[in-house]
Amino acid sequence: MDADRAWSNNSVVRTGERLTAAVIGGGIGGLAAAAALTRAGVEASVYEQAPVLGEVGAGVLIGPNSVRLLHRLGLASAIDEVGGWVGEGSTYYRHDGTRVASVMTTDSSGWAAMYGMHRADLLDVLRRAIPADRVHPGHRAVSFDQRTASEQKTAFGEGTPRPRVSFENGAVAEADLVIAADGIHSALRRFVTGQSTPVFSGSVAYRGVLDSARVPDWPARVFQVWMGRGRHIIVFPLRAGRLLNFVCFVPADGEMRESWSAPGDPDALRAAFEGFAAPVTGLLGQIDSTFWWGLYDREPLAEWTSGRLALLGDAAHPMLPHLGQGANQSIEDAFALAAALKDAAAADVPAALRRYTQVRRRRTDVVQANSRRNGERYDQVNRTADGRDRELIDARTLRAWIYDYDVEAEPELIAPTSGLHSGCPELRSRPATATAAAARAGTRPHTSMPVLAP
Ligand SMILES: Cc1cc2nc3c(=O)[nH]c(=O)nc-3n(C[C@H](O)[C@H](O)[C@H](O)COP(=O)(O)OP(=O)(O)OC[C@H]3O[C@@H](n4cnc5c(N)ncnc54)[C@H](O)[C@@H]3O)c2cc1C
Repeated sequence: MDADRAWSNNSVVRTGERLTAAVIGGGIGGLAAAAALTRAGVEASVYEQAPVLGEVGAGVLIGPNSVRLLHRLGLASAIDEVGGWVGEGSTYYRHDGTRVASVMTTDSSGWAAMYGMHRADLLDVLRRAIPADRVHPGHRAVSFDQRTASEQKTAFGEGTPRPRVSFENGAVAEADLVIAADGIHSALRRFVTGQSTPVFSGSVAYRGVLDSARVPDWPARVFQVWMGRGRHIIVFPLRAGRLLNFVCFVPADGEMRESWSAPGDPDALRAAFEGFAAPVTGLLGQIDSTFWWGLYDREPLAEWTSGRLALLGDAAHPMLPHLGQGANQSIEDAFALAAALKDAAAADVPAALRRYTQVRRRRTDVVQANSRRNGERYDQVNRTADGRDRELIDARTLRAWIYDYDVEAEPELIAPTSGLHSGCPELRSRPATATAAAARAGTRPHTSMPVLAP
């Protein structure tokens, strides 16, 4: 079937004058994008390859920089209900149980908004902010096509050209813009930028969840990091503390496929943490099952947008999990995108996507680099334990830079001459924060970017 016929048979019907967006990928980034775009008045539809939206049993930590955005979607009580709030008492420890420092879990104002979220719960919460008929599981994007204005004129006469996505099931979606939120192995990334090579971190992560009743002495409502040379473990609560999420980082024997995951061996995991203090070995002793991941990131991409197509989330900035920011940054992307597109006309879309890219790159390039650096810090690479501990005591500068940020306060997201955002006081009146200003470090190559951590 040729693309034009497929379109006429399977099109997503365009209604009224509202801008339309096709979001490819129904993960945390894709659903956050659809929710933020819906709030901004854009008609956003999500296309997810899986037959049902869901996730493996693992958690992510979300912090003040994304929680303040999710609150604006009216999701505060849903997060309180299903999240595992973490606060005071959160601590970094050496592997032998020596206390190193408190973990910062608030923004600089003291706002305590950090939650462990089961990934399935977070998807569920985000879905509440999207009209039910706009989510289309069972749609695996396989191709993308956009015409130039003159190609459009030849084919269809006057009008703003609109991009199309073709799916494996034969459907085709057309919209004013397409967002590739299709993860680290993005199928649409090749339509934006050239080949980018995954960089192996040398570590794998074992992840899983444990019924907290099995470790009754484990303190409630805290985030803990236990660090030995070359390996560390992170534990935080999910589902109001009924579950504990563990992520254990160990050196890999050899390279594996990017973001590859498979069932892991609990005994091998326990063996890797022999010699750690009793709370850790006790917790690992209760584990029946775990998955493991090969951990990769990529250097910042040359481009995030091409015409009416833009990348978002891991498709744009795959990062190591050592600052717990991949999902948080995807949510920031979503709100930046929505702010850039709010009240935009179809003809303004390419410029709005460029503004989104410019603002986001300045921040995610720095977060990507610091995620690598924090992993080296936790694993004591090229440092003494004392040196590592001193860096962690000082880590508040970096954490404050991350948590204080409000992406909707970025004035450059708004079109310079449009006088837009009149309907959204939050976008109009909130002044750029000092930390947002700090983020304006300019896009630089990965190697020479400013590293804010000590
Ligand atoms: C061990 C580990 C721990 C982590 N911990 C944290 C943490 O504590 N905090 C945090 O913020 N982040 C954390 N992260 C990172 C976080 O999980 C990711 O950054 C985040 O999930 C990215 O979301 P995304 O929507 O961009 O991509 P994904 O979650 O990968 O979603 C992509 C979606 O697109 C779909 N898709 C793919 N291809 C297609 C296609 N062709 N057509 C249609 N659909 C498609 C996929 O099925 C999937 O649903 C961690 C990551 C790892 C590996």
